[in-house]
Amino acid sequence: MLQYIIILLDDTATSFCHYSIPHHRASKLIDLDDLKNGIRFAMIENLMIQFVYPNYELPTRHIEAINSIDHIDIKPYIGEREDNSDVIVFNKIPSNLLKDKYPTTIFRLTPQEFFDFPYYLAKETFKKVERLNIVIKDIDPIQAWDLNRYNDKLKEMSDWIEQEYCNGNTPQWNILTDRMFLSKMNNCGAGDTTITLAPNGKFYICPAFYYENMDDSIGNVNAGLDIKNQYLYKLEYAPICRHCDAYQCKRCLWLNRRMTLEVNTPSHEQCVAAHLERNTSRSLLINIRKHGNFIPEVDNIKEIDYLDPFINREKWQQENL
Ligand code: SF4
Repeated sequence: MLQYIIILLDDTATSFCHYSIPHHRASKLIDLDDLKNGIRFAMIENLMIQFVYPNYELPTRHIEAINSIDHIDIKPYIGEREDNSDVIVFNKIPSNLLKDKYPTTIFRLTPQEFFDFPYYLAKETFKKVERLNIVIKDIDPIQAWDLNRYNDKLKEMSDWIEQEYCNGNTPQWNILTDRMFLSKMNNCGAGDTTITLAPNGKFYICPAFYYENMDDSIGNVNAGLDIKNQYLYKLEYAPICRHCDAYQCKRCLWLNRRMTLEVNTPSHEQCVAAHLERNTSRSLLINIRKHGNFIPEVDNIKEIDYLDPFINREKWQQENL
């Protein structure tokens, strides 16, 4: 069931996920009528709106429309200006130490920036950021990922986080701490619980689908939604993912389609990366518990001997799962 709508306020609205805005894309503000119709659609469907901003000030009438309804703001970091956004996106590693306190913060990092992620910045985020989401961008082709290095860096970060927990702090880093608290899938939901309204007044499965192909729309603000084969976006119809317990995995349908040509079939690399995170979270939970009582209501994460659930497919078929 739909619960959220993402409204991109401009063609250059910041990415907050794996996809990147094409370099040639010029600014194009959403039409005020389309914005109002999108808000009306959200009200009728009872959807929470997430507005995604470009790096310039919007016209007053757009701001008035936005402020006419409860919503979440996702804004790019554009310097040292005080910002009241709910989510701040850093599209590269900040060159200066963070000056202010930040709410949910997204670091969009290239694989190399991730591998080079420095301890001084980690210490900054422990102090200044309520929650950090690390998202890897420019993973094209994903096969180029060095998953061994990814694993090594996860372990290094896990040591930093363990130390913070020993110091009495509780940092939230999506790729390492989310899985400790989850008992079921907590994935992106594009096309199932979430849709996107683009600046051209059309709906898309998610922003990445819009930027990849503007003809890939699933309706518009006037005619309404028209999602073909919507069941394919649901976890129940994802044969590998529904047998998986890497609950923190983004399960990115856009990456799925790019890599396997099927929105409900992940690539091996996406699964391995998510399982390395899962397994490092498992070790982190065990290690934190060596220092004291920690979330006693949560069971340890079980040990598994695979990094891609696809390997178990014959077992599910035998057990008719
Ligand atoms: S790790 Fe693979 S199987 Fe598991 S949820 Fe993620 S994409 Fe799906």
